[in-house]
Amino acid sequence: MQFSTKCIHGDGQRFAGDNTGAVSVPIYQTATYAHPEAGKSTGYDYSRLQNPTREQLEKVVACLEGGVDALAFSSGMAAIAALMELFSPGDNIICDCDLYGGTVRLFDNITSKNGVTVTRADCSSQDIAGLIAKNTRAVYIETPTNPMMNVIDIAALAKITRQKGILLIVDNTFLSPYFQNPLSLGADVVVHSGTKFLGGHNDALAGFLVVNSNELSEKLRFIIKTVGSGLAPFDSWLVLRGIKTLPVRMEKSQQNAIAIAKYLQSESKVTKVYYCGIEGGKGYEITKRQARGFGSMITFEVESRALALHILKSVKLIRFAESLGGVETLITYPFTQTHADVPEDLRIKNGITDRVLRLSAGIEDAADLIFDLKQAIDSTPSL
Ligand SMILES: *Cc1c(COP(=O)(O)O)cnc(C)c1O
Repeated sequence: MQFSTKCIHGDGQRFAGDNTGAVSVPIYQTATYAHPEAGKSTGYDYSRLQNPTREQLEKVVACLEGGVDALAFSSGMAAIAALMELFSPGDNIICDCDLYGGTVRLFDNITSKNGVTVTRADCSSQDIAGLIAKNTRAVYIETPTNPMMNVIDIAALAKITRQKGILLIVDNTFLSPYFQNPLSLGADVVVHSGTKFLGGHNDALAGFLVVNSNELSEKLRFIIKTVGSGLAPFDSWLVLRGIKTLPVRMEKSQQNAIAIAKYLQSESKVTKVYYCGIEGGKGYEITKRQARGFGSMITFEVESRALALHILKSVKLIRFAESLGGVETLITYPFTQTHADVPEDLRIKNGITDRVLRLSAGIEDAADLIFDLKQAIDSTPSL
């Protein structure tokens, strides 16, 4: 089956427990399930452990990423926090230096507190093999990175982690499984903030872990049922519904992003445009090799902080809000929003200055979006 079909039908298996013919998977809004008699179960005991709506969603996501199993969490951060429970005090993980701000906050404050040391490296350029110590258990990356759009060669890194017998974890939120499948390139775990492209409508939080082995699946199933951060039935249904249109949304938002990136490149007050679909640009060749598209995330730098703030205040159609990957175009100020908790020296080193804006192209009409950005930039009071 092709990708678009999987988005609608998953692996083609219908949920066996429903015999009404319901085309949309029902929302099993129940906390618990009655048992026929002592020692017997329908297979469903308690919704922290099993819920048919969540299970259907997990099947679809596993299918889209080509994984053995997928687990649905109440948010992307809940997924990453549960994943960190795989590690024990004394373990080390290597992470890329440009990550989602919430992940940096988790690693710096919670993971470290639990005795797991986190080594930061630039996985797009540094020699990672040399950094892997005896106690290193995993390498954790995003590609393209948030927000600086650095691209990391997944297959090359997987070769190293495989050789060393450690896990490669890839947060695939930015490209979604429609454009990139890290497991097929050698990664062991894929992370998603399902709040973003998978859900796609800025109306629900969700997170996923997708794994390539039964062993990892068992360990993580034990963790999710124990820590209790599984996705609620209604939110599972919203994300299932969102995924049905993932391919058409990804295509349209990418088209818009390409048009917006071109416009931004032509704007004299825009000093840098980071988009991995710019031919000859940083990361273009690797993205072409390992992904099927460039996505719809654009980071750009403007000539002054005042202009950045003016744009945030002046956009009308585009909303100034955190998050990404929805049908609505959003603009974000990583410096004080998504990446505020990244230590300042690291933020500056990565290029996340007070002149940097991040845009997530939605699926509105490109001309309307460009008109909105242009009126915001052109209305700058002279400084
Ligand atoms: C948003 C995001 C997360 C966190 O997900 P939530 O659903 O907001 O908890 C993790 N990684 C990336 C790349 C993100 O964009």
